[in-house]
Amino acid sequence: MPFVRRAIALWREIEAESGTRLFHQTGVFYAGDARSEFLSSSMASAAVYDVGLQILDKRSEVTCGLRVPADWTAFVELEGGFVEAERAITAFVEVAKRAGARLLTGTKVAAIVPHASGVEIRAGGETIHVEKVVVAAGAWTGELVPELRPHLAIERRVLHWFADPTGACALSAGFKPFIVEAGDGIEFYGFPSIDGRGVKAGEHDLRVGGASHVDAADALDRAVGVDEVARIAQMVRRFLPGLEGPTSSAVCMYPMSKDSDFILDRLSERVIVGAGLSGHGFKFAPAMGEALAALALGRAPTLDLSYLSLKRFG
Ligand SMILES: Cc1cc2nc3c(=O)[nH]c(=O)nc-3n(C[C@H](O)[C@H](O)[C@H](O)COP(=O)(O)OP(=O)(O)OC[C@H]3O[C@@H](n4cnc5c(N)ncnc54)[C@H](O)[C@@H]3O)c2cc1C
Repeated sequence: MPFVRRAIALWREIEAESGTRLFHQTGVFYAGDARSEFLSSSMASAAVYDVGLQILDKRSEVTCGLRVPADWTAFVELEGGFVEAERAITAFVEVAKRAGARLLTGTKVAAIVPHASGVEIRAGGETIHVEKVVVAAGAWTGELVPELRPHLAIERRVLHWFADPTGACALSAGFKPFIVEAGDGIEFYGFPSIDGRGVKAGEHDLRVGGASHVDAADALDRAVGVDEVARIAQMVRRFLPGLEGPTSSAVCMYPMSKDSDFILDRLSERVIVGAGLSGHGFKFAPAMGEALAALALGRAPTLDLSYLSLKRFG
């Protein structure tokens, strides 16, 4: 929770710096069977950190016709919300450029070679000499930093967009991001439709191995299977029957750490890593950036990062 709150404060800072609205503090709707461990641990954590919860005991209070059984637990976590990811990336890039960053887009880093007096980055036929390097290469991290491979796994995941013909699931209609514990440790989640783009929905599944395991990021199968579409469509029919589709789908990757928590650490004096974001890293991006910058600059981090260090894996 301290990391979440720090991220929210920093989203507000980057909004002010970039003049762009990025974080919508709408609250997040949670629902699940009353015995759901996920819900009880979310409620316990809210109690520890004094996060406001609005317990919903009348299903009529649920927005957008999101249907959950009357005997389920349902609440709105009031501090939560969502970030507009594409706008956030544009804002980060603009602010970084203004601060003097040099961006090499469409350029593959072939190797990172630390030595006694610095680090060589070989990219696009050029060798760049720097004092320190922060590696945040998502599912490709293991290729650039092989030492991390034993701690990481790559899992294939699919995201879908559904049409909202009545507009009831629009941000402007008050629809909130939602997380529904759908059983088997899988959370069905989604975000409100913005500018008529439709509701983004998927299954947050932290399991590792099996059919969704990916050996190497570039070997990812990006074709969406008929069974994958049928599965999410069934989930949407069950919980959000007013939606239609999916109208489109996209395949992406969860770079998983062994405990599904992030790895923010110094691999050596000169190489700092932000890895294993395990499918839930985006919302923390500015807090993670701040933490990685502190590690690179040898400054005391704003928050305790010890639980995110590599030491926890022994
Ligand atoms: C389906 C899905 C749903 C998600 N939903 C959420 C959510 O609801 N909330 C949330 O907080 N997070 C969510 N996430 C997770 C979030 O998107 C990631 O945690 C976050 O984007 C990770 O950022 P990153 O910069 O570490 O990695 P990435 O976004 O993967 O970026 C890594 C970048 O490094 C580049 N790169 C890699 N290797 C090289 C190289 N050799 N040379 C040059 N460039 C290189 C890649 O091209 C890429 O652009 C979701 C992820 C998925 C897949």
